[in-house]
Amino acid sequence: MKYIDEYRDGGLARSIAATIAKEALADRHYRFMEFCGGHTHAISRYGVEDLLPANVEMVHGPGCPVCVLPVGRIDDAIRLGMRPETTLCTYADLMRVPASGGASLLKAKAAGADIRMIYSPMDAVLIAEAEPARAVVFFAIGFETTTPSTALAIGLARRKGLTNFSVFCNHVLTPSAIRAILDTQGRPETERVRLDGFVGPAHVSTVIGTAPYVALAAEFEKPVVVAGFEPLDVVQAILMLVRQVNEGRSVVENQYIRAVTNAGNRIAQREIAEIFELRETFEWRGLGDLPASALRIREAYALFDAERRYRVVTTPAADNPACECADVLRGLKTPADCKLFGTVCSPETPMGSCMVSPEGACAAHWTYGRFRDRAKPAAPKARPVQAAA
Ligand code: SF4
Repeated sequence: MKYIDEYRDGGLARSIAATIAKEALADRHYRFMEFCGGHTHAISRYGVEDLLPANVEMVHGPGCPVCVLPVGRIDDAIRLGMRPETTLCTYADLMRVPASGGASLLKAKAAGADIRMIYSPMDAVLIAEAEPARAVVFFAIGFETTTPSTALAIGLARRKGLTNFSVFCNHVLTPSAIRAILDTQGRPETERVRLDGFVGPAHVSTVIGTAPYVALAAEFEKPVVVAGFEPLDVVQAILMLVRQVNEGRSVVENQYIRAVTNAGNRIAQREIAEIFELRETFEWRGLGDLPASALRIREAYALFDAERRYRVVTTPAADNPACECADVLRGLKTPADCKLFGTVCSPETPMGSCMVSPEGACAAHWTYGRFRDRAKPAAPKARPVQAAA
């Protein structure tokens, strides 16, 4: 299949990996974070780490939208779904994310709440149109990739004159999360992850372009290579990162030129800007409260804002104390470092958000990586830390 098969050529992947092994300096250990859950999934699925030399290590990042949603916001969504007049529409991934007290959207649905799984926000608009007696709420999550479709759904609902459609907005911003990982000032050493660069997101970057990473790469002196989601994209991006590190460069490079431009998708950016504005702060699972890291619906579209309409006030709620998702999302631990991994926590019985979506580091490792763990010597538990900034 065009644009798929040629990016999964095993011989070519091995050849690029051999170049990485040749160019990676023997006396240096390289640690690159793949920000995006799509890359985490691709790296696990295609065994990219098995191709890399021992001194080139991949660190999973927080770019899985389901994973970074804090418990308090899932609690809010469950409360919205339990209202007798509402129909809560959500992506299937969110149904099994654990909320407070062992609750989940799936359990709320089993208890009688009208919670429906949809493929697109447009489905929620169509449900609102078809069922005017129901108050339809779309549970919107995701990075910049999914924000344009939520904006279009709100615009369509307005044009249709729908008064029974609203959005519970949880859209978050990628550059803010990258900054939170890199800006380690004031944090204890145990919370600092040593990184040499980033594999930048694919789909997010089709919307925002490569420009928003330029200041981050310069300020923190970390190279960023935006890459596609196929295995050859990833190994090529790793080679580009190794070369930047060896040459002492920290710039943004674009491996995914078949889809990503410097400026991104201006039409999508315009749609987002029309409907949404920056929140002052937003809580992320694992990263805490981050300033200017998420979007809310503008006053002009208040009718479509479920937070205003139902006076949602989020109460912060703690994760399962045994779950290591927070450290996994920061790159401080691996899924296998968690005592619950593969024991009480599996995709059938997830104890944390990282085990739910296929893009979550724990779910990806469960599906593809755990078989390799047995073949490997035990990895050191302590993760290298970054020198004080
Ligand atoms: S294995 Fe389960 S409990 Fe452990 S960090 Fe991952 S999601 Fe959380």
